[in-house]
Amino acid sequence: MDKDAKIKKLTSENERLIKLCSVKSDMVSISAHQIRTALSALKWIIKMFLDGDLGKLNAEQENLMKKAYEGNDRAIGIVSELLLANKTENVTEKKYNFGEVDLIELIDNTVFDFSGEASAKGIEVIFLKPEKKLLSIQADKEKMRVVLQNLLENAIKYSNSHDKVFVTLRENDGLVEISIKDTGVGISEEGKKKIFEKFYRDPEAQKKEPVGSGIGLFTTKKIIEDHGGKIWFESSESKGTTFLFTIPIHRKQ
Ligand code: ADP
Repeated sequence: MDKDAKIKKLTSENERLIKLCSVKSDMVSISAHQIRTALSALKWIIKMFLDGDLGKLNAEQENLMKKAYEGNDRAIGIVSELLLANKTENVTEKKYNFGEVDLIELIDNTVFDFSGEASAKGIEVIFLKPEKKLLSIQADKEKMRVVLQNLLENAIKYSNSHDKVFVTLRENDGLVEISIKDTGVGISEEGKKKIFEKFYRDPEAQKKEPVGSGIGLFTTKKIIEDHGGKIWFESSESKGTTFLFTIPIHRKQ
């Protein structure tokens, strides 16, 4: 093989490996997010038992519930580490599985998954459902779930205790528009320019929540744009933030 042919072969092999690596990293990130959300939902259910919200436990039941709580907490820690370790990986190359998605049901489930975490901070998440039932949209359900998880997680994370987070959904001109509104720390003027950049975190947000990767919004924007949608926000410092995004109801072929 001559020199040029070797270089060509190595370059194409390198490109294939980069692509493969990126797909794997994306899968790790999406799965880890989902596992963590499911574990968090479980955590607050166990906590309700431990707090006696569902009736007083006997000593043996309490002991077992404590073990379940601790084991679950350890698992959340491991998954969070995994997410952190994966954060430097690329999230660009992705495979989408498009299908019919019932967005109202998906939002309902995601809001439920975060309800424990929110109520532990005294925050209420309210989904204002549209009066007219929306028909399904064409989307990748698991990736849409990641979008909703990221935006809801942020709204709760950057809210103050006893705040309310409102989620709305409306249909307009072939698009669905979803908004997630909080009354938390808000985004600085500098942050407004950089918020969708990978790894960017606003100083105020960091003060409020030291743990974060600055990758959630980057991924969220990419997923929305890959669906043919748009994401934007309205925010004022220490007053709150509303993230809005659109997704076309029907996918262009
Ligand atoms: P992370 O939350 O892990 O830092 P994200 O990519 O999800 O990463 O968000 C990037 C940055 O955008 C956050 O660090 C924060 O500064 C800002 N941000 C995102 N959502 C909100 C929000 N609802 N309110 C205030 N700031 C936000």
